[in-house]
Amino acid sequence: MAKFIRIDMTSKEVRVDDCPEKYAGLAGRALTSNFVAEEVKPTCHPLGKNNKLIFAPGFLTGTGAANSGRISCGAKSPLTGGIKESNSGGTFSQKMARMGIKALVFEGLPSGDQYFVVKVAMDGVTIDDAPLEIVGMGNYDAIKALQDKYGAKVGVAVIGPAGEMRLTAANISFADPDGNIRSAGRGGLGAVMGSKKIKAVVIDDTDAPGVAISHPEAFKSAAKRFAKALTTHPVTGKGLGRYGTNVLVNILNEAGGLPTQNFRRGRNEWANDIGGETMTATMETRGGKPTHGCHPGCIMRCSQHYVDKGGKYITSGFEYETI
Ligand code: SF4
Repeated sequence: MAKFIRIDMTSKEVRVDDCPEKYAGLAGRALTSNFVAEEVKPTCHPLGKNNKLIFAPGFLTGTGAANSGRISCGAKSPLTGGIKESNSGGTFSQKMARMGIKALVFEGLPSGDQYFVVKVAMDGVTIDDAPLEIVGMGNYDAIKALQDKYGAKVGVAVIGPAGEMRLTAANISFADPDGNIRSAGRGGLGAVMGSKKIKAVVIDDTDAPGVAISHPEAFKSAAKRFAKALTTHPVTGKGLGRYGTNVLVNILNEAGGLPTQNFRRGRNEWANDIGGETMTATMETRGGKPTHGCHPGCIMRCSQHYVDKGGKYITSGFEYETI
């Protein structure tokens, strides 16, 4: 039975239960959103003790199924006041799934100013005082410092100064396989993590049993068919991998649906300057990577390595909606 782990940041108690029956048929965003609807009072303050922050992998996470490794995060949003699901790539989710963890839930609120690092391993959960030097640190540096301390291969979920200051648009960021960051950027869930004084969650899947497959041959065949469907479709097999989600800029501009001037117009004359085709050409000229996966096992690879004029990595690329 998959484990449902609750970490109470008020009392520092950790409870490891079997997954409750009511959540057994759910995973990923269905689980995190239903959990928030069920267990978080709609009237609670999002940065108060009654909000809960939940991380959950998907049903297929940790298996060989393509594109199954993203993580879902949920809580009452400090930005919208509603139920928020925000998800991210990185290595965290696959480690959770391989360890047999259905959900990690952070409850309560500690008193005082101390920040904590929660460590999740096969032999249990520990709550350490966060090293002084990482408090206030940005995400890239904090991930490096945490992997130096806890091991180069651990998964990391972390907040930067925005989360510590509980700014309502703060991200939760996750280490990716290259030591860069992937972010659950919607709804200010980094502020919820900051309110619980969790600077980072470190996950170590050493000795994890992996995900059991009941019918390996049937699973392999279905996974193969799914992968083929993705790689042969013009959008998932060609467009997204070549131009990222930014492939949409020119398409929507043509269709008159590119939000411009707060959607007073659906087209703008400089769409091509910021579209996927231009972005990809710029990356190729500078020596960046127009095609990259945000987690191991992604075959669509809509992410990128966007570099500066000297070829130095700046960011993972720009999503359509950010553009
Ligand atoms: S790189 Fe793109 S396609 Fe691949 S898992 Fe991440 S978001 Fe999905």
